[in-house]
Amino acid sequence: MTRRLTRLSRRTFLADLGRGSAAIAVFGLAACSSSDDERSSDATNPTTAGGVAGPETNQGGDADGVRWTEVSFGFVSAFVLARPDGITVVDTGTSGGVGAIETAIGELGGTWTDVGHVIATHSHGDHVGSLQQVLDAAPNATGYAGTDDLADISIAADLVGLEDGDDVAGFQIVATPGHTPGSICVYDPMSRLLVAGDAVLTSGGDIQGPSAQFSADLDLANASALRLAELQVETLLAGHGDPVVDRTAEKLAALALDLG
Ligand SMILES: [Zn+2]
Repeated sequence: MTRRLTRLSRRTFLADLGRGSAAIAVFGLAACSSSDDERSSDATNPTTAGGVAGPETNQGGDADGVRWTEVSFGFVSAFVLARPDGITVVDTGTSGGVGAIETAIGELGGTWTDVGHVIATHSHGDHVGSLQQVLDAAPNATGYAGTDDLADISIAADLVGLEDGDDVAGFQIVATPGHTPGSICVYDPMSRLLVAGDAVLTSGGDIQGPSAQFSADLDLANASALRLAELQVETLLAGHGDPVVDRTAEKLAALALDLG
């Protein structure tokens, strides 16, 4: 596999937030957020000051057997999913996120040794920025990404390529190509929880189609988003925007009508 993530493709901001505290926010160059996403995330992120803060955990939920916590990086989120038999991390945010992900694992009652699987929904830098560090910290974890995105994720660790219909610890992999060639979603059919990556965006409880600005093939990305309406999702965790837990299937069906 190729070598470590380049450190040239990021910018680091250091901000003194006063009262002796300082926070560092690191933004990947390949960030696939829009200004709308930042606003929606900031609205539920009270400690974000001027858009500059370290990643932090937000209270998650319990979706019938899968407990989850959001790790918010302000404009992008990673998610930690816990089942009785272990922990799965989906996406890792920008670089510098390993501490916040560790906090999320702890809040779910686990430690790094409980993490069996780390899944990247796609290759963009704001989703795989801490992937190597998370895999370094989790001695029992296997790393995964969509097969068609593997070549675009330059880390030292080997990753297992995933295809539509694959199963990772009971989670079903749903291929959603278009945003990137190998974009995938992670779906739990039992709890009807979907970690969507950037297959769709959310804002203020609504679900929108994939980003026109940051999707490699928008027509294909829209076709993939349309397909998510077939899943009967109750909890939708998107990479950009707030979790959607209310009338989610109905909203996905409406989006599918829009996109169709
Ligand atoms: Zn993206």
